[in-house]
Amino acid sequence: MSNSGGGLTGGCLCGGVRYRATERPMGVVNCHCGQCRRFHGHFGAYITIPRDAVAFEKQDTLSWYRSSAKAQRGFCARCGSSLFWKGDGEALLDIAAGSLDQPTSLTTLRHIHVADKADYYAIDDGLERFPEGAPEPP
Ligand SMILES: [Zn+2]
Ligand SMILES: [Zn+2]
Repeated sequence: MSNSGGGLTGGCLCGGVRYRATERPMGVVNCHCGQCRRFHGHFGAYITIPRDAVAFEKQDTLSWYRSSAKAQRGFCARCGSSLFWKGDGEALLDIAAGSLDQPTSLTTLRHIHVADKADYYAIDDGLERFPEGAPEPP
């Protein structure tokens, strides 16, 4: 499957979860918080899209874990792929960029929660860094 033309598509490793996004995000944001680190096995790379612009073509194996008092994380219960973050009551859905079909034609925009980053790697790509969350989009 590919992303030539139209919206972005993606899914988990086993194919039990497949989605299509009808809007394109600004780009990819890398989140270095401790929760993303454990959920993804490294930092989290996410795109953010309005929830109503994401359609699930398959979600047989999609499961949600309440990772904090205000958010849930979506993953595939069969293959273990880490896929989504959604804040309670928010109109947006964060999608793990690595689950997107290639090519995405996206670029990475910034790093957030860098105050929490692990000590085994460096951030040296020159992109903007924020100690905590990103500022509100314009
Ligand atoms: Zn799967
Ligand atoms: Zn995070």
